Amino acid sequence: MDTINIAIDGPAGAGKSTIARLAAERLGYIYVDTGAMYRAMALLCIRNHVAAGEEEKVVGVCERAEVDIEYVGGEQHVLLNGENVNAYIRTEEVSRMTSAISVYPKVREKLLTLQRNIAENNNVIMDGRDIGTNVLPNARIKIYLTASVETRAKRRYKEQIEKGQEAAIKDIEKDIEERDYRDMHRDCAPLRVADGAKVIDSSNLSIEEVVKLITDMVK
Ligand code: C5P
Repeated sequence: MDTINIAIDGPAGAGKSTIARLAAERLGYIYVDTGAMYRAMALLCIRNHVAAGEEEKVVGVCERAEVDIEYVGGEQHVLLNGENVNAYIRTEEVSRMTSAISVYPKVREKLLTLQRNIAENNNVIMDGRDIGTNVLPNARIKIYLTASVETRAKRRYKEQIEKGQEAAIKDIEKDIEERDYRDMHRDCAPLRVADGAKVIDSSNLSIEEVVKLITDMVK
């Protein structure tokens, strides 16, 4: 099947998932959140008391895991060994573990096949760190969505306060910087602007403005 693929990459908190979800809804495409798949693997490591630095053990746990996604009312559910783990993968502990274990090539290999299969069979907007560079290098449209660290930290802070969680803006900034550094400097599939990608800085743009920029590119 000839499918249309849109790849969106960028650092943490740039607004990728909000924007990709809305754009997919308007275009009638499937939104694929690849970060959630990596998060599910990280959750499994935490549940198995495996430390991020123990590469062999991390790889062992991840290789045995069954990760899949399903859509319920348009929402992506990540299934980890059959269990919907959406409710457990958005904590700061899981975020840190995720960027630490996603440096391992064997962990990435496992998810690459799943991601490519979905894109081969559906029109998708897929977001992550290596989608335009590595997962879907032939995507029709590639976007690199970014924003200043301050803007991204403020957005995260607001989200956490709204969820009733405690948050300190300086800690969030530090976390974001560390995660960006790891994602951009790892050997395997680091975060970078893909060839042919349009760079969008969302610091001073509304969600609606960015969604429109992207949906207009499809026309
Ligand atoms: O996008 P999200 O913040 O949920 O991603 C969590 C982490 O998963 C990232 O910080 C990154 O380390 C990893 N990731 C990745 N490749 C992707 C998507 C996410 O390495 N395609």
